[in-house]
Amino acid sequence: MATALVRYQAAAVSDRGRKRPSNEDSFGYSVEHGVYLVCDGMGGAAAGEIASSLAVDEVMRILTGRGATEPVDDVIHRAIAAANEAIYSRSENNPRLNGMGTTLVSIVVDERRVRIVNVGDSRCYRLRDQHLEQISEDHSLVDEQVRLGRMTAAEALRSPLRNVITRALGTQSKVTPDLFDLEVKPGDLFLLCSDGLTRELSDGKIEELLCAGCDVQQMCASLVEAANNAGGGDNITSLIVRAEE
Ligand code: CA
Repeated sequence: MATALVRYQAAAVSDRGRKRPSNEDSFGYSVEHGVYLVCDGMGGAAAGEIASSLAVDEVMRILTGRGATEPVDDVIHRAIAAANEAIYSRSENNPRLNGMGTTLVSIVVDERRVRIVNVGDSRCYRLRDQHLEQISEDHSLVDEQVRLGRMTAAEALRSPLRNVITRALGTQSKVTPDLFDLEVKPGDLFLLCSDGLTRELSDGKIEELLCAGCDVQQMCASLVEAANNAGGGDNITSLIVRAEE
């Protein structure tokens, strides 16, 4: 029995925000190849920008070039390792870039399933039947404390340590991503975003804005605008992918 193809629509908006001198977030996507990603770079001077764009370039290059026979999980691990190595070796060879790194959150489409790949505290959410759910888990110090029951979610939001992430691409010689495997239903909407969005907007507010929208480009723009109106304390990136029958 032939299953109907799922088609995807995507858009992204990235903005410097109101407080930062430059934008260290990067994103990339290819609807044709079913690859979508957001990276949030960190490091002094221009290092964060270099780290996040190196990660986007490497992961896009490998995932859009994948053959039909290699299992998708193998390609993902190869892409993450290559991006990690590209950033790590560049920073080892240049003292000014020392310690640079980046988060990465990505969706890779595999027929009617998607893999969600995550390193760091950028997030993937799914909106299904008007209900927003966070799919990825933050690799941050406070989030780990919350998962261990040592801190409440409200305390985590106010913590001075909330910037500390426990996993990043490019800061160590090896990195292990989280991988989530989900079946896609027509109508599912996925949001990839940097913490500049989620620091300013509650999950409830994000859900409200996504439910109110219909055009994916417009939805990305309204999320970024709302985060700027709420303070725009950091770079803001939102990338939306929607599955349609
Ligand atoms: Ca950020």
